[in-house]
Amino acid sequence: MRYQGITCAFVLLAALLSGCGGEKRLPSVVVPGKEKPEVTPVVPEETPDAKVGEVLPLWSEGYLDIHSINTGRGESYFYIFPDGTTMLLDAGGALPGEVHDYGEGNSPGVPSKPNKDIPAADVILHYIQHFSPEVSKGALDYMMVSHYHSDHFGSVNSFFPSHPSGGFVLNSVAAVGTALKVGKLLDRGEFDDPPSSDWFSSTTNYNNYVKFAKWAATSQGTVREKVRVGANDQIVMVHKPSATDAFEVRNLAAGGYVWTGTGTESATRLPSTAELKKMGSSDAGQCGENVMSVALHVRLGAFDWFTGGDCQYNGRSTYAYKDIEAPIAKVMKKVEAMKANHHCTANTNSAELLAVLRPDVLVASSWRDVQPRAETMTRFIKANSEVKIFTTNLTDNNKATLASQGFDIGRMSAISGHIVLRVHPSGSRFWVYVLDDSDESYKVSKVFGPYNCQ
Ligand SMILES: [Zn+2]
Repeated sequence: MRYQGITCAFVLLAALLSGCGGEKRLPSVVVPGKEKPEVTPVVPEETPDAKVGEVLPLWSEGYLDIHSINTGRGESYFYIFPDGTTMLLDAGGALPGEVHDYGEGNSPGVPSKPNKDIPAADVILHYIQHFSPEVSKGALDYMMVSHYHSDHFGSVNSFFPSHPSGGFVLNSVAAVGTALKVGKLLDRGEFDDPPSSDWFSSTTNYNNYVKFAKWAATSQGTVREKVRVGANDQIVMVHKPSATDAFEVRNLAAGGYVWTGTGTESATRLPSTAELKKMGSSDAGQCGENVMSVALHVRLGAFDWFTGGDCQYNGRSTYAYKDIEAPIAKVMKKVEAMKANHHCTANTNSAELLAVLRPDVLVASSWRDVQPRAETMTRFIKANSEVKIFTTNLTDNNKATLASQGFDIGRMSAISGHIVLRVHPSGSRFWVYVLDDSDESYKVSKVFGPYNCQ
């Protein structure tokens, strides 16, 4: 919160000069028969002006903030709920060496942001410390891992420092989770329940995570919970639950289970655990970890947001259970904005899902040359011709690929930066800000909106 004091002083000074405190308290209403007048809720006015070239104003009470933090090493989303409750969803920390798994050749790939000397964990940590609202006291009320892949929760490597007493290395999730107090740690449960093919390949990263979780439980009182699919009362506003009843987080999917749309019921099309274990990692029918991703529907009034980790539809013709997007499509509705599934790569974000979601704003957290893909972005445009496309990175290699495939890069609203969605407390409109990620000053480089919510 290095700028918070300066910002607060500025806001106070501006308020004194203009006579406007940035929010409007409606006149008190005297109710007959009651001695004291009822005070109507505080209704903030328009979001403080975010100006290009200036540091993004901090979150204000009542707003919903969704920040895509760009480390260049995977996905990391920082949420601030209307009452100031904080949630970090993923702390991507794939090693730079993991970039070239998909035939990108000698391309330098996506660079670490803002530079290779600042580890992804520090980028995330500094970002949270800057934007964290005072009510959260610098803690993360929730930290969630969408699934057990390094670009979402970190790698294990000897160059990471070890925690002095925890027996784990301080990779992304562990480094952020030891520097900040974590209230609840949410994930899909044990790595082998149900087992993905990745479980057979290596449990190193997961075991490190478990050791961190155990340390956090004893040292910070962190409670680790499995995401209850279908529930809308697991992720809630914890500081001022009565602030608004228009805010809700519905757990749509996790561990291969998907909400049925009825009550809090969920169902799965996955083979049994015994069958999955029989398939192992070499069987063509193996079930990858991406299918196990956590998906959420976040709502504030008329504003709807979808996020689904690395959900996918590939293999649907042979193995229906791998298409985790199909059952999600059945229980979702149009959203104002969404995070692209699986970094907007191939065989994700199916036409079937997008025909339902039809987002007006798409945020793709890319960290490889193969992301985002032309055919995938084209599906978004087909679902909603007006969709604004924001990607956190776009390499020269991918620019050439997209151009060769006839995709107009000019169609994209942003091709680098942290992407911030700020939703008005009424849930009726929202803004999108692109922040310069070349340093850690969080200056605004582009402003979009307000967009109306339906
Ligand atoms: Zn990923």
